Amino acid sequence: MKYLDEFSDPDVAKKLIDRIHAATTQKWALMEVCGGQTHSIIRHGIDQLLPDSVEMIHGPGCPVCVTPLEAIDRALAIAARPGVIFCSFGDMLRVPGSSRDLFSVRSAGGDVRVVYSPLDALKIARDNPDREVVFFGIGFETTAPANAMTVYQAQRLGVRNFSLLVSHVLVPPAIAAIMESSTCRVQAFLAAGHVCSVMGTAEYPPLARKYKVPIVVTGFEPLDILEGVRRTVVQLEEGRYEVENAYPRAVREEGNVPAMEMLADVFEVTDRTWRGIGAIPRSGWRLSEKYRAFDAEQRFEVTDIRTAESSLCRSGEVLQGLIKPHLCEAFGKECTPRNPLGATMVSSEGACAAYYTHRRLELVDAK
Ligand code: SF4
Repeated sequence: MKYLDEFSDPDVAKKLIDRIHAATTQKWALMEVCGGQTHSIIRHGIDQLLPDSVEMIHGPGCPVCVTPLEAIDRALAIAARPGVIFCSFGDMLRVPGSSRDLFSVRSAGGDVRVVYSPLDALKIARDNPDREVVFFGIGFETTAPANAMTVYQAQRLGVRNFSLLVSHVLVPPAIAAIMESSTCRVQAFLAAGHVCSVMGTAEYPPLARKYKVPIVVTGFEPLDILEGVRRTVVQLEEGRYEVENAYPRAVREEGNVPAMEMLADVFEVTDRTWRGIGAIPRSGWRLSEKYRAFDAEQRFEVTDIRTAESSLCRSGEVLQGLIKPHLCEAFGKECTPRNPLGATMVSSEGACAAYYTHRRLELVDAK
């Protein structure tokens, strides 16, 4: 399959691995920002093929995992209201809130529907003018343009019974927060290619300069990851800290300009809480004043819902790269994808789920 098979070629992979080994002379700790990259690394055993001195730290780039517990609880409160049709992508339905999940709300009679696009939710709103229809808009810069377009269309078409529950987060402030942490071990980043396909690369050179870290924009196939690692290691060995684009087939320096214009119109930057990490200033989006009437938090008055994280789950440490998932005591025991204690075990992009799916036999047996 074009653009998949050619980026999984084992002969090219071997050459890249040999080049990484040849370039490495000392210990380096690299963070792959995106959960999709984490899954590719664990699924293909890429971390086990790298030199022992090159450590991959798994970053916070799984949108489901970083959606804060209080956002889940607000979604649950809205979804349980009579007259509401609550729409979401399927992966949010099993994410545990403080006492239940969206599946439980549906079992109890709530009208919770899985959709494949926020525009599907807008259509449901137009087909059901006597119901309130809410779409759960979570994720990074990647999913935000479609949500922005949906709100723009709702206003243009006058669909007043549609609203968006927004929990969007932004990658560059998270990179800054990771680098500012006193426990930070990260020396370089593989930036998330799909985020940069929307936003371009202009936000990253100031971060690379300020924190003296190489940042290599990287894709998701095995050869993409290996090339990202190779370029990062070469920069570290040479003492450089620059932004490189190793994913040019999808990422242009200027990004997707029409999408960015739509985002700038519909959203404005705000402080956000990241699940397991805490508050990061100016690290998310909310609806701008012009579109505030479509804000589900305001419409349903759920802004007062605040929820503390469980003390059992160590997903915050996982999301900051402080521990690997299997070092959590609950991994593979109390916590499995069937009975997840934390979001990093629920999401298909979560690091705990990746380790459970691809490594549990060796890791659980070894505990
Ligand atoms: S294994 Fe489960 S309990 Fe442990 S950090 Fe991961 S999600 Fe949380």
